[in-house]
Amino acid sequence: MTAATETMPLLAAGAAALGVALTAAQLDQFAVYYQELAAANQRVNLTSVIDCEGVQVRHFLDSLTLIAALGGPAALTKPGLRVVDVGAGAGFPGVPLKLVFPGLRLDLVEATGKKADFLRHLIAVLDLDDVAVHWGRAEELAHQPELRAAFDLTLARGVAKLPTLLEYTLPFTRRGGLMAAWKHGGIDQELTAAQGALRILGGRLEPAYRVTLPGLTDDRIIVLAVKDSATPGRYPRRPGMPGKQPLGRGD
Ligand code: SAH
Repeated sequence: MTAATETMPLLAAGAAALGVALTAAQLDQFAVYYQELAAANQRVNLTSVIDCEGVQVRHFLDSLTLIAALGGPAALTKPGLRVVDVGAGAGFPGVPLKLVFPGLRLDLVEATGKKADFLRHLIAVLDLDDVAVHWGRAEELAHQPELRAAFDLTLARGVAKLPTLLEYTLPFTRRGGLMAAWKHGGIDQELTAAQGALRILGGRLEPAYRVTLPGLTDDRIIVLAVKDSATPGRYPRRPGMPGKQPLGRGD
């Protein structure tokens, strides 16, 4: 057993359960990610979960549960797959997925400057190719021609409730592409409330995926939506509006 497997045993075991055999080099990269996160967290509040076991399960593995939601690793190994993580914070879920699937082209969108700075630093330390960090709000970035409807897969964890989140994410998603939102607890009401936003923005819900992974006990679920038709050009509305007046409440 390598040193890296010894420092990240929960991650190695959980990834194996998801059908991915992480190499020693990949586990080393996760160990560096953990060290950078712990160091930066002294200065910038990036996460309340900072013990090594907690980070392995609640951040790294939780990010990787998308593999199961998509039916296995094959969905993420397509060459050149473009992925955007909206409200990436300290990099979850986008960066762990990039470490496991180095062929992904990843864009990270983050509104808070200090978090975007951490992401840039992390990408440099990990020496990752094909990762771009965008400091700004989704409401503005999703109107940039090179980012609009440009992504096969749009990810978001812990950013906003679905009606708001769909307005942040679906404009980035290409037609036929997929949006995945990490949620937990009872979300029936949120799913119902999202119907109006889905209709307006051109999306359709797929069956949600219930996460069952040892150590993740808080009823986690990944909501999946397919982008069926183009999002009208006026969305997302100006910064703040998707949160203040979520779509689909009779407007
Ligand atoms: N996805 C990370 C961070 C969640 S916290 C994780 O799961 O750990 C939510 C993050 O989204 C914060 O860092 C916040 O700055 C960012 N955010 C919230 N609204 C945003 C918006 N409209 N555009 C871009 N980033 C946003």
